[in-house]
Amino acid sequence: MDDRTYTADAEPGETVTVAGWVHEIRDLGGIAFLILRDQSGKIQVKFEKDEMDDDLVETGLGVHRESVVAVTGDVEEEPRAPTGVEITPDSLDVVAEADPELPLDPSGKVDADLSTRLDNRTLDLRKDEVKAIFEIRAEVLRSVREAFRNLDATEINTPKIVATGTEGGTELFPITYFGREAFMNQSPQLFKQLMVGSGLERVFEIGPIFRAEEHNTPRHLNEATSIDFESAFYDHTEAMDACETVVTAAYEGVAENCAEQLETLDLADEFEAPDGEFPRLTYEEAIERINATGELDEQLVWGDDLPTEGEHALGQDVGEHYFITDWPSEIKPFYIKDHDDDEQLSTGFDMMHPTMELVSGGQREHRYDHLVEGFEQQGLDPEQFDYYTKMFKYGMPPHAGWGLGGERLVMTMLGLGNIREAVLFPRDRQRLSP
Ligand code: ATP
Ligand code: MG
Repeated sequence: MDDRTYTADAEPGETVTVAGWVHEIRDLGGIAFLILRDQSGKIQVKFEKDEMDDDLVETGLGVHRESVVAVTGDVEEEPRAPTGVEITPDSLDVVAEADPELPLDPSGKVDADLSTRLDNRTLDLRKDEVKAIFEIRAEVLRSVREAFRNLDATEINTPKIVATGTEGGTELFPITYFGREAFMNQSPQLFKQLMVGSGLERVFEIGPIFRAEEHNTPRHLNEATSIDFESAFYDHTEAMDACETVVTAAYEGVAENCAEQLETLDLADEFEAPDGEFPRLTYEEAIERINATGELDEQLVWGDDLPTEGEHALGQDVGEHYFITDWPSEIKPFYIKDHDDDEQLSTGFDMMHPTMELVSGGQREHRYDHLVEGFEQQGLDPEQFDYYTKMFKYGMPPHAGWGLGGERLVMTMLGLGNIREAVLFPRDRQRLSP
């Protein structure tokens, strides 16, 4: 439609054609209003029944809610209208009629449960507060891309169909690839590492990861969006600096460019970008602080993974984004480098929001012999990873990086109760469609 005007741009004194969805019809007797909604907002269309063509009134007021209509008419100032203007229609076309029975109410007057909403995502996304989440998600991705570019990183795309997995077999989805077994990739880890030895040196990728997580939780998906970073000649502390920069940039982008969406979500007052420096706690300090909260039934000892309740207790205690560093080597993946002066200690780190883990990263093992040994100790056949390990024989610089869960970033930023709220079409144990 060349001549279409967004409702937000309709100015008094103009004759315009607006097109969108019938949000509501309010019939007050002699006068009635059709509220038309489009991507930019809503506008009131006025029907004065006695002064208008009967057919026009009948069509305009007889149309079912959520139908698509196009209205041409004069725009006038009207202080009592929701946006201060209204249209008196000359003509109204029903472009696409909606069934009178809607599976959910896009005006939001009737609540729908999450499952019904996800089954009918198109209708669900007609709600301002749902649309706002995805506009903010888009801004998060735009801001992190910009932050990566400012860090001189090149955006890459790596295969999602792979012959072998990295992080142990249980989380892999097998597929059939021309009669052979293959898998959906659970992380771009190995590919992004291969790039630090290429001419690119510093790379990032925003793409899907696939994890056959058995459990259905509010913070796990089976298909998630991973924001990955890897750089040559970085150690783990420099990787953490980059992580702070990128996460802070996401918050700043949203604060700067999504004021309206934050308002819609009722977050305008409380929304605050982090100051760009997250406290760095060692694993040892973390377990001491968790133990001191007294929230756990059993005290944690060195070598324990942090239970979810422990993470929560610590998160409450710290009260902002923070890192946990210097993990015991045995609970971090084998491709992460140990400290040179203490091989019980890993350079691996996690970056935490007070409520959950957002990032895992570390400096990587770049020495060929150590790496191959790591594969063997992990019970993985180094032969199968030859495509990866052999490149470590041809000049692989020291390097570090991390992976950030895109949906968890949006979820924690907006205080969403369920990660599925931050994905258009989530994949979980029960949900494979739409
Ligand atoms: P968790 O222990 O919380 O299950 P993880 O340690 O297994 O996460 P990593 O392999 O470290 O996850 O992946 C890096 C980041 O990717 C995580 O910190 C998280 O933000 C995100 N992520 C990983 N798995 C999932 C998932 N199943 N759903 C959503 N995000 C995920
Ligand atoms: Mg992790």
